[in-house]
Amino acid sequence: MKATWRFLFATLAAAILFAANALAAEKIKVLIIDGINNHNWKDTTPLLRKYLEETGKFTVDVSTTPASKAAKDEWAKWHPDFSKYDVVVSNYNGPAWPEPVQKSFERFIREGGGLVNVHAANNAHRGWKEFEKMTGLLWRGPGDGWRLAFDKNQKEVKLPPGKGPGAGHGPQHGFQVVVIDQEHPITKGMPSRWMHTRDELYHGQRGPANDMHVLAIAFSDQTKRGTGYYEPMLWWIPYGKGRVVTTVLGHVGKNDSKEMVAMRCVGFATIFRRACEWAATGKVTIPIPENFPTADKTAIIK
Ligand code: ZN
Repeated sequence: MKATWRFLFATLAAAILFAANALAAEKIKVLIIDGINNHNWKDTTPLLRKYLEETGKFTVDVSTTPASKAAKDEWAKWHPDFSKYDVVVSNYNGPAWPEPVQKSFERFIREGGGLVNVHAANNAHRGWKEFEKMTGLLWRGPGDGWRLAFDKNQKEVKLPPGKGPGAGHGPQHGFQVVVIDQEHPITKGMPSRWMHTRDELYHGQRGPANDMHVLAIAFSDQTKRGTGYYEPMLWWIPYGKGRVVTTVLGHVGKNDSKEMVAMRCVGFATIFRRACEWAATGKVTIPIPENFPTADKTAIIK
C-alpha cells in the first residue's frame, strides 16, 4: 500500500514539474505583417524578427501581403489566421486590408490580442475606422482628426481637426526621447531622457486620439522644421481586451539597407521587444540592457 502511495506522489510530482516546465517554455507567438511599405520592409522585417528571437521568448512568423498592384483575387486569398498568435507586428504601410481580414483582425484584438505598430505602420489603412481608433494618431492631414502634443512644460495640448499642423517631419537627426511615463512596464527602468540615433521625428499625427496613454515624447525643434512642441513617440491604447502599442521611431528608407541606423538604436530595440511582450501578455520580463543610451550618448547595435 505504502509503495503505491509513494508511486502516486512521485508520478504527481513529476507531472506538476513537467507542466511547470512546459509553461515556462511556452513562447509568445508573433506574426509580423509586411509586403507594402514606402520603407525598406524587406530588410527591416528580418531585423525585427532577430530582435525578438534572440530574447528566447518569442516564435515569429511572417505574413507578406500581395503587392500594391495585385489583382483582387490575390488579395482575396490573403487571410492570416490571427487566432494562432498572441501579438501582431505591423511593418505594413499600404491600403486598408480587405474587409473580411479587417473584421477578423478587429475580433482578434478585441478578444485580447496585441498589436505593435512600427514607424510608418501608422500611415497605413486610410479609412479603416477601427484601425484608426486602436492606433489613435496616424499620418494624416490636419483636417483628418485630433492632434495631441505637449508644450514646453510637457503639458498635454489637444487640438481639434483643422487646427495646427498635419503629419510631417523635418530632416532626419538624432534627438532625445523623453520618457513621460516611467511606471509603465515598457518604459520602466529607462532613463527619463535618452539619446536616439538619427531618425525622422514625426509631428502633427492625427486621429481619434481616444484613450491615449503616451509613454514617450520628443521635442520637435523649429530649427529642424519641427513644430516647437513635444510630439508623441510611443503610446498605447486599449481596444476591447487587447492592447495596441504604436511607436513612430524606426525610419529605414528604401536606400538605407545597410545602415538602418534608426532601428539599430538600443533604445528602439528595447522598446520594440518590450512592447511586443507587453502587448501579448500584459507583463514585461525583458530587461533594459546595460548599454542603453544615456541623455547625451547614443547606443548602436552593430
Ligand atoms: Zn520614415
